Amino acid sequence: MALPQRQTDIGPPHYKQFLPPVIEKNYGQWKYHERIDAGTMVHVAESGDKVYTVRVASPRLLSTDTIRDMLDVADKYCDGYIRFTSRNNVEFMTADESKVEPLKKELKDRGYTIGGIGPRITNVVHTQGWVHCHSACTDASGLVKAMMDELYEYFTEKELPAKVRLALACCVNMCGAVHCSDIAVVAVHRKVPVIDHDKIKDMCEIPTTVAACPTRAISPDPAKKSIKIKDEKCMYCGNCFTVCPPIEIHNPEHDGVAIVVGGKIGSLRTGPKFSKLAIPFFYNEPPRWPKVVAAIKNILEVYAKNARKHERLGEWVERIGWERFFKLTGIEFTYQHIDDFTFMRDTLRTSAAFKW
Ligand code: SF4
Ligand code: SF4
Repeated sequence: MALPQRQTDIGPPHYKQFLPPVIEKNYGQWKYHERIDAGTMVHVAESGDKVYTVRVASPRLLSTDTIRDMLDVADKYCDGYIRFTSRNNVEFMTADESKVEPLKKELKDRGYTIGGIGPRITNVVHTQGWVHCHSACTDASGLVKAMMDELYEYFTEKELPAKVRLALACCVNMCGAVHCSDIAVVAVHRKVPVIDHDKIKDMCEIPTTVAACPTRAISPDPAKKSIKIKDEKCMYCGNCFTVCPPIEIHNPEHDGVAIVVGGKIGSLRTGPKFSKLAIPFFYNEPPRWPKVVAAIKNILEVYAKNARKHERLGEWVERIGWERFFKLTGIEFTYQHIDDFTFMRDTLRTSAAFKW
């Protein structure tokens, strides 16, 4: 006899509880799908059932008012069902074809941007940034907003050779999908943390702090009842700051972002790939980060112009060679690239050395 489901606050409830009935009925029995336009697609099941999906972008900071507004639309057209994709696109699904156009009209009237389906960019997955996380070296939501404003037409109408996934992580802890996105921004600290010795004894456990450092740069400093950092061993990861806030790693003048490219999760045509370093550093330039945004647009447009149909950005670069990628995009190859292009052999070609 099956046991009654235990009520717990650990972990999410089982996703099957939230599937629209048509999806549950045809679970695992979907035959094909077709794109209707830049923001609408239809899935057809073996049974002949259809489900129509309208995709919209979500705002960078999501208020409860906005979520309620989305739920109103879902109640009206989708029997209360709504779905957030892993990159925070919001999908409204209905089995009733006659509801699709009124749904799209209502979404437009309420100010949502429809798009992101097919060979284009989707919503950008990103992390918390200065708004919410203690480790952030950039403002995730601000930078992504600036990026999306510039790339808007690649979400709503313009097509690319294949889909392009964009991501941003606001420190190298990397809560965003930066390592496996076509073009991604990762924020970096670049200075050894500064220690406030007076506060350490009240706020930190010395063994925990020492153990938090992945490179063993931290050791106890008994004379000061504090810790010390060996500068040359520090890689500015910020782990120590996380367990011991008086070790301050933020540095408004030296924090900034790097751009990495060529990652992907899917195994269609070629296996999943890790992203690789394209541009080592830009200073933070809030509120609109013009240089970062221009660099991303340049990479996207060079890819759009040169790649073959269906070729993901990483596949294109592997076909033409990384040397040519740097030439075509006009990105300078610097000493910061060397580690990525000589030691990460599992993601680069393994036979010949990188020629630069
Ligand atoms: S990437 Fe880093 S700074 Fe950003 S939310 Fe995650 S831990 Fe915080
Ligand atoms: S920033 Fe990272 S590498 Fe540097 S001392 Fe702290 S934990 Fe160690």
